[in-house]
Amino acid sequence: VTATAVEPVDLGHDHRLEWRRVDGVLYGANVEHLGKDGQPCPYGWIHFDQPDGWTLEAEDPPTVSPSVLCTACGDHGFVRAGRWINA
Ligand SMILES: [Zn+2]
Repeated sequence: VTATAVEPVDLGHDHRLEWRRVDGVLYGANVEHLGKDGQPCPYGWIHFDQPDGWTLEAEDPPTVSPSVLCTACGDHGFVRAGRWINA
């Protein structure tokens, strides 16, 4: 198993997307964001490999559906064409 480290994609609005892949297969991403206290929130994980997961519409520029909601801090928005759009 080889995990490949790649540079996070800056989505704007203090959000960055970091793809996660194993053996070249893209299976999820970490959406880095700030919590209500302005500190980095440790949550924001999305995955594409399970029935209740997200749909990867495009890798470049990043587009996923449906919206991304962080149940920890309430951060909610869309990843569309490589940009974070607040919901
Ligand atoms: Zn959060």
